[in-house]
Amino acid sequence: MRRPMVAGNWKMHGTRASVVTLIEGLTQQVLPADVDVAVFPSALHLAQVVDGLVGKAVAVGAQDCATQAEQGALTGEVAASQLQDLQCSLVLVGHSERRSLLGEGDEVVVRKFAAAQSSGLQPVLCVGETLGQRQAGQTLSVVAGQVAAVIDALGVAVFARAVIAYEPVWAIGTGLTATPEQAQEVHAAIRAQLAAKDAQLANEVRILYGGSVKAVSAAELFGMPDIDGGLVGGASLNADEFGAICRAAGN
Ligand code: PEP
Repeated sequence: MRRPMVAGNWKMHGTRASVVTLIEGLTQQVLPADVDVAVFPSALHLAQVVDGLVGKAVAVGAQDCATQAEQGALTGEVAASQLQDLQCSLVLVGHSERRSLLGEGDEVVVRKFAAAQSSGLQPVLCVGETLGQRQAGQTLSVVAGQVAAVIDALGVAVFARAVIAYEPVWAIGTGLTATPEQAQEVHAAIRAQLAAKDAQLANEVRILYGGSVKAVSAAELFGMPDIDGGLVGGASLNADEFGAICRAAGN
């Protein structure tokens, strides 16, 4: 039985003051004991959030890490080992905004994935197709290619210490959500791809759905057999809404 996870990606939002408010709101939420809850603040606010959530069952992750795991001369970057030192336990890799707006290709994503794991962090590998790719019938091949890039470079076993997030690009921040059936089709395909290499591992890997998840849509999405929770952007900036989404993932 896979333990659900709900993760909030705060993206490039927040000030010190608004982060205090969000932490206060989160600490007031009744969070389900059977769900792993995590938040991903901007790098600037990671320490504030780690300190603010001490004693609360909410993990803290980063939105990105350098391709190089250890500290060094790489101006502006943050090493996975530094994130680990800060008590982060997770890091997003391959988010579509970084792939499309910052030009991150699979090779860079794979290096960040490896850097994260070598520092003891769990990477959350984000994959997903654009609207054009979906309309061209390429959804499954695009997503399979993004997952295969990691398998081919690092081996399938690395997914024992990772999470996958399927995020159709056309659903991110647009208010459009994949139907539960559309999402389930892709989640099942990802799991089958992993199962072809290692069936037991495939059965244990958590695959989250992301793309305009709201409290109102969460329960139906999370009720699909291969959807193990959500990666939530905009709605995670509202503690009550995020709390409701977390509760929707519980039993
Ligand atoms: C995201 O950024 O990962 C995301 C899913 O955003 P949103 O929920 O706002 O679509």
